[in-house]
Amino acid sequence: MRHDKTVLRQRDELPENALPCTATDPDLFHPDPSDPGFMKQLYAAQTVCGPCDRSSTCLKNGVASGSSGVWGGQYLEYGLVVDDPAHRRNLSLRTRQRRKAAA
Ligand code: SF4
Repeated sequence: MRHDKTVLRQRDELPENALPCTATDPDLFHPDPSDPGFMKQLYAAQTVCGPCDRSSTCLKNGVASGSSGVWGGQYLEYGLVVDDPAHRRNLSLRTRQRRKAAA
């Protein structure tokens, strides 16, 4: 599911410009673990979320909707918080290497 901040704004009845992420490319919040720039993009998204005073609600929305990406400054996959995104990235790279070797 895409990062739907519209839902968050409606729920909180916030003006569109009240959230730091509204001034940012939404793709920033969807880093791909198999991409070499995954951690850099993740940190950039978390930096945007840092000053957000709705991060708790945002995270709850991401979990409740089974979303993936950065929500409330946390990296989620299908609504689950990934505690160690660097480890997740390494697993993704190993899987890609195995598939490449098997081809
Ligand atoms: S925590 Fe991040 S993604 Fe969520 S509303 Fe705030 S700035 Fe946007």
